[in-house]
Amino acid sequence: MGFFTDTSLCIGCKACEVACKEWNRVPAEQRSFTGHSYDNTCGLGANAWRHVAFIEQGGGEDGLRWLMSSDVCKHCNHAGCLDVCPTGALMRTEFGTVVVQEDICNGCGYCVSACPFGVIERREGDGRAWKCTLCYDRLRGDLEPACAQACPTKSIQFGALDDLLPLARGRVETLQHRGVTDARLYGTGPDDGVGGGHAFFLLLDEPEVYGLPPDPVVPTRDLGRMWASAAAAAVVLAAGVLGAVRGWR
Ligand code: SF4
Ligand code: SF4
Repeated sequence: MGFFTDTSLCIGCKACEVACKEWNRVPAEQRSFTGHSYDNTCGLGANAWRHVAFIEQGGGEDGLRWLMSSDVCKHCNHAGCLDVCPTGALMRTEFGTVVVQEDICNGCGYCVSACPFGVIERREGDGRAWKCTLCYDRLRGDLEPACAQACPTKSIQFGALDDLLPLARGRVETLQHRGVTDARLYGTGPDDGVGGGHAFFLLLDEPEVYGLPPDPVVPTRDLGRMWASAAAAAVVLAAGVLGAVRGWR
């Protein structure tokens, strides 16, 4: 199960941010004017599990364009946060999503640096790591996530990935047919650096424009190979030491 966020339909109302905060009891924060259009959250974090970005482009002869996009945890198939968690607080659910168990998290923060998207964060004054759960409690009760339910334009759609993917591809085709040639999908590739995920996006420009890494790579991707090389080096070293000891005798 997962999210398809079609940014071409987003109107920037922030209903998703509010619904997420309300349902998940994510603490409110005192925000000030950032100067970044209507964006006062400026990114995902321990207290912002959905973030609606406002990107103002152009202003010249081509006129002004406003890109809006509701970002969220990607619930990666190869999740760095989950790989490095030493306590088992991060778990893969029966829906394929990645969830932090708050009663097990010890606040070590390893997951924070292991996320290639900068999603997960330790909460100030609490110390534990927090992020989107894809409304795990609602899924268990056969309800859709709060953000998807609140979105008035269906920019956020929730469902089985097998249903959402063809829908998303069809939408890209439609947009391109209408002349929106930059329309593309992001986060769908099973062969990308995180093995794809359970939250993917339709973007209208390069991922960097939305603050998304163009080629995310899970930092633990080469861990197996590194351990194998270290083991091989240890074997060679041990054989050398053994040979030297035998030579002395
Ligand atoms: S986006 Fe980051 S926090 Fe979310 S599952 Fe992937 S690695 Fe973990
Ligand atoms: S609720 Fe839907 S339309 Fe409103 S900001 Fe979120 S994604 Fe955009």
